[in-house]
This record gives sequence, C-alpha cells and structure tokens, in this order.
Amino acid sequence: MTYPDLNLFIGGRWRKAADTLPVLNPATEEEIGRLPVARQTDLEDALEAADQGFRIWRRTAPRVRAQIILKAASLLRERAEQIAPSITMENGKPLVQSRMEIVRGAEFFEWDAGEAQRLYGHVVPSAPGIRYSVIREPAGIVAGFAPWNFPLSQPARKVAGALASGCSIILKAAEETPAGAIHIARAFQDAGLPDGVLNLVFGHPAEISSYLIPQDRIRVVAFTGSTSVGIHLTEMAARSMTPVLMELGGHAPVIVCDDVDLQAAGRMSATRKARNSGQVCTSPTRFFVMEQGYQAFAAAFAERAAAVRMGNGLDAATEMGPVANHRRIAALDALVEDARAKGAKVLAGGTRPNGPGYFFPVTVLAEVPDDARVMREEPFGPLAIINPVRDLDDAITRANSLPYGLAAYGFTHSAANVDRLTDGIEAGNLSINTLEASVAEVPFGGVKLSGHGREGGAEGLHHYTVTKTISHKME
Ligand code: NAD
Repeated sequence: MTYPDLNLFIGGRWRKAADTLPVLNPATEEEIGRLPVARQTDLEDALEAADQGFRIWRRTAPRVRAQIILKAASLLRERAEQIAPSITMENGKPLVQSRMEIVRGAEFFEWDAGEAQRLYGHVVPSAPGIRYSVIREPAGIVAGFAPWNFPLSQPARKVAGALASGCSIILKAAEETPAGAIHIARAFQDAGLPDGVLNLVFGHPAEISSYLIPQDRIRVVAFTGSTSVGIHLTEMAARSMTPVLMELGGHAPVIVCDDVDLQAAGRMSATRKARNSGQVCTSPTRFFVMEQGYQAFAAAFAERAAAVRMGNGLDAATEMGPVANHRRIAALDALVEDARAKGAKVLAGGTRPNGPGYFFPVTVLAEVPDDARVMREEPFGPLAIINPVRDLDDAITRANSLPYGLAAYGFTHSAANVDRLTDGIEAGNLSINTLEASVAEVPFGGVKLSGHGREGGAEGLHHYTVTKTISHKME
C-alpha cells in the first residue's frame, strides 16, 4: 500500500517544508507520512501565485474551464484504485467507502463544470434608450478550509465551486488527512490547470487562517468544520467584509412514523450510522419514534448495530473502521458516560475494545433524558439516540429544539405527514424515506448554527461570484 509524498503545492510547483508533523493511521496509530507545515513565506507565495492564477483563470472561457475540471475528474476516476488505500490509511474508513468518496468527489467536479457554463446574467426591461444588464463575475481568490472526515470529497467541494466560478483558491486541507487533497492537486496539474489557480497548503490551522483571512486579496472564505471554529473565522472575515460560506455542525433528527416497515427502517438506519464511523455532519443521530412503533424500531436498530463488523478499513470484511483521531474517542466516551449516569439505556456498544487504533463500536442509547449532554452536543461518531415520542407534533418540536439545522430525516408513507415535516422542520436539507442528504445536483447547507450558504446544485456557484449591474444609456 502506498501513501503519497506530502508536499505543499504553490504556483504549480510542489514544495517541501522545513517543518513536518506526523500523519497517523487511526487503525494502527502508526506513522504513515509527514505533513509539511507551511511558514508565512509559503503563505505569502501562495497568495501571490493565486493572484497570478486568478488573472489568467477569470479570462479563461467557461467552456475551457469546464474541460479542465472534467479532465481532472476523469483522472480521479481512473486513479480510484490507487487513491482509495491512501484515504483509508489516513482516515480509517473501509476501502469500499473510500472508492465511493472518490466517485462522489468526481461528481462534484462534473456537476460544477456544467454549472460553469450556466453562470447566466439577465437584462432588465426598462425605458427606451437605457439598458440594464446584470452579470455575475468570479469573486477573486478563495481561502478554503476542508476537514478530515472526507479527505477527498470535502476539498473537492471547495475546489469545484471556486474553479468553476473562475476564482483561484488557496486550500488548507486537514492536517490528519492530507492525501485526498494531494491527489486532487495532482489531477489538476495533469489536466493542464494554469499555475497558481489551485494552491494547497497544510500546517497549523490558526496560523494559516489568521494570515490569509484578513488579506485584501482574499474575497471569499469557505470553511467546513465545527460551529465554534466557523464562528471564529466568520468574525475574522467580518472585519474586512469578506463573504463566508460556512458548512458547520449538525445533530440530525430522524422522525420515524409507524406507517413504515419499522424493522427495515431500523436496520437501514443502523447501517447508515456506521458510515464513516458516524463522522458525517448529516449523520442520523436523534431518532424520534412514534410510541407504537418504538420497540420494533429500536430492537431492529440495536441488532444491526451490534452486528456491524468493525476493523481495519483495508480488510475487505470491515464494515466500519476506527474514528479518525483520539479526540473523537475521548468525546464519545464522555458523552456515553454522562448519558448512562443520567439514566439512558445502552442497547448496543458503549465500550471500546482493547488494543491499538481509535475503535469505537456503533453505540445505541435509548430513552435518553433531555438533560443528557448528548441530546444537545453533536457526537460526531457512531452514536445514536432512540427516544419515543407521542405524535408528529411532539417529534417536530423536539427535532427543532437545538440551535442546529443541517440535515433532517423522516420515515413515513403518508403524504400528509410529508407535508407537515416539509412545513415544520428547520433544516437546510430534509430527506424522506432515505438517509442520503447531499448529492452534487442539489444545494446543500444549513440554517441556524449549522452554517450559511449552499454548496452544489444550481446555487453552488453563487457564493463564489459577485453580481455586477450595468446601466447603459444609449446615444
Ligand atoms: P475542531 O473544531 O478542532 O476542527 C474542525 C476543523 O477546523 C478541522 O479541520 C481543523 O483543521 C479546522 N480548524 C480548527 N481551528 C482552525 C482555525 N483556527 N482556522 C482554520 N481552521 C481551523 O474539531 P475536530 O476535533 O477536528 O472535529 C470535531 C468537530 O468538528 C465535530 O464535532 C464536528 O462538529 C466538526 N466537523 C464537522 C465537519 C463537517 O462536515 N461539517 C467535518 C469535520 C469536523
């Protein structure tokens, strides 16, 4: 299994760094690579390169931009077998999920490449002799920050939106999982992207963001990660009125009505909870089940959860790998202990196995009291809560009771229930009878503390462009 050489990518060239940090395999806790740590001079060079890159790229025809993006996407697809093990080694997820992530990253590029050619303006009817037209222009240089839960598809979201819009980007990918972004940069280099349009840096997150965000030439800040860091970066950006695209935490509710196959819904939900070891901002977490169906749903969920095969993601039999870092283990342990102490029942999992690796089993907590921390704090791991509710109104009130609103789910076959959920749920994305919440074709993003702005869909390039109005008085 090969893990790529890790370097900075600035102005179309790979650059070594004097300082490095270890990158660990979360399944073994062994070092697999050395992360290059950017110094301020590297960041200054990246800014200069992105400036040069933007001058070229904004004048490149959208059709040509799309061709280069599509070429890079097809290289990622061709290289999937070579890339997938490195994602599993640095993040822990099973190989099959790493392969799916590469396809998903390619889909983000392919969709946004199409949108690059549909950045339409419009002409506004007016009095004779004057014409008002409204056009959309690329905003400028983007400072992008991508997290570790999807090492390739998270950076792909930011790079796709920026490049399709005609912006250049300086991307800081996650310290724990740098290889996904390295593979993206290689694909773009091989696809003929002009130098400086995509720049990739790593290092100490606070040093990089506090240098880049205040710079005049940075015109968009795009971040995916925790709400607390998102607020911090938004405050920093506000000082220069730099617009932000923030994709932050969630605590997704799932409302289960009793008109569905409860056992099938329970099994499907447990399988989905195990995806990426629950480290997904849309991961289904707070299950509110109508009282009549509660026992059947909870039993099916717990049985499937207990059967999930946990192990090294490189092993073909593995269904769920470790969590990505030791911080998640400590956080999950504390949330389970607190819920247990407050009276929650543990229907599956709850204790981590001995031995190396950051393994934590799918854990099902039932009848969890409202004052347990896990009812409010996003576990960001393989932990689900199943609580009974009186009726749909009760469920919707509980679902909306947190300051998050990213993904929400419902299981029902009643059109009336679907209408009530559509009308009542406070979230950016509501999925009915499916636990998929984010695909390239539709906009994705949150309300309340889950963030601001949308990625994907027809709306996805909006945040990387500025609107310009031209009033033309004809002689
Ligand atoms: P964290 O808050 O320490 O870091 C989250 C991300 O922000 C990381 O990628 C990190 O590199 C980056 N970051 C941290 N400080 C920064 C700074 N000053 N400037 C720029 N970037 C900075 O949390 P963590 O322990 O890495 O992850 C746990 C939490 O993060 C979870 O509870 C979850 O809410 C959130 N998270 C969300 C997503 C998502 O897809 N929305 C992805 C990963 C993590």
